[in-house]
Amino acid sequence: MEYVYEKLIIDYDKNLDHHGVNGVRLANRLSALSKIGRTVDGGSNRIGFSEEEKKAKYLIKKWMDDAGLIVSVDGAGNVIGRLEGKNPNLPAIFSGSHVDSVPNGGHFDGPLGVLAALEVVEAWKETGYIPERSFEIIVFTDEEGTRFNGGLIGSMSMVGEVKKEVLQDQVDIYGVTFEEVLGNIGLSMDSLLSAKRDLSNIAAFVEVHIEQGKRLEKAGIPVGIVTGIAGPSWLEMNFTGIAGHAGNTPMDDRKDALVAASQFIAELTSLPKQVSQTAVATVGKLYVHPNGVNVIPGQVKLTVDIRDIHEKSRNELVNLIIEKATSICMNNHIKLEWKETLRVDPVPIKEVMQDRLLKAILANQIEPFYLPSGAGHDAMIMGRHIPAAMLFVQSKDGISHNPLEWSSLNDCIQAVHVLKHFVESY
Ligand SMILES: [Zn+2]
Repeated sequence: MEYVYEKLIIDYDKNLDHHGVNGVRLANRLSALSKIGRTVDGGSNRIGFSEEEKKAKYLIKKWMDDAGLIVSVDGAGNVIGRLEGKNPNLPAIFSGSHVDSVPNGGHFDGPLGVLAALEVVEAWKETGYIPERSFEIIVFTDEEGTRFNGGLIGSMSMVGEVKKEVLQDQVDIYGVTFEEVLGNIGLSMDSLLSAKRDLSNIAAFVEVHIEQGKRLEKAGIPVGIVTGIAGPSWLEMNFTGIAGHAGNTPMDDRKDALVAASQFIAELTSLPKQVSQTAVATVGKLYVHPNGVNVIPGQVKLTVDIRDIHEKSRNELVNLIIEKATSICMNNHIKLEWKETLRVDPVPIKEVMQDRLLKAILANQIEPFYLPSGAGHDAMIMGRHIPAAMLFVQSKDGISHNPLEWSSLNDCIQAVHVLKHFVESY
């Protein structure tokens, strides 16, 4: 027996096994995947484009074959398993996620979304159910973007968002180019471009994913409806004062860049709630120059990560933050320079898609709970082009990207039932 399996199964409520859904099967599969790229800490190490990611994809490919799906691998390395519906000419429903991880990540971020979709097909197989529309399960390549900046390569390829000129110049920390890495696993820039699907053949995309936060756990609810996926704006700010001797410069004759930056960081925390309930802002990086014990800081460079699920309020917050920094710097006689280094548009989830999930949740006697996604997902990319929905599953202690990442099998299986009901509603 294996610890991921044992820990999953220990408090499993067998009453959740109905309509062909089987908790033991899902636990076995989560456990089998967790062994690929297992780290000494018990985490998973399956970087995008690695041997480990490939092994995980092939294991799923085998399960798709066994389930009788039509299995293919596209030019981006996305593994696709298709079940023909009663009416295969209708646009299909897509569901899936990724199996790559961050270095020393967990066993649920990604795999759960893929295996939940597969469990829906297994359940249909057991009960003889054939959906009206065709159903495709997708294992997206390199969602996390650990080796090269960005990630989301599989989903971006599928919707035709990859740009050759942007990607081909990327180099990893060893100096290996993106194109070489693709070549090593039999892909190329051109094959990525070939992975674009005719989007008019897709009716909807739905992704099950762990929450990676504590909202559901605090509410004691297994799954929640994602209302939107936040798009980040990154600001780089440069506070310039005058460095001086810490002993010989009187307190009233200083231009201390760190004092101004600190005031900014402290006041920043009260700004997001002025624009919306879901907005957030974080200073995550700070460089102090010259960074000496007895030197007044002459320069501080910092980054601000600003997110919300609505573009308007996110942009409002960006402006508020720049105004705040400007006024603090003026009062402290500090020079401020700033630039925006990243701007990704948020993807609100359409109300009709949220309502469809709501019906599936109510049908399973689960209390409805709505929450935003602060992190990007494949559903964010798909949602820019086709109707998308996202279902979050409770995460223990909100921990993610960490070997301790955990979701109970009861909650995972409830997500399968909701997903199944959602797909059957088309
Ligand atoms: Zn993920």
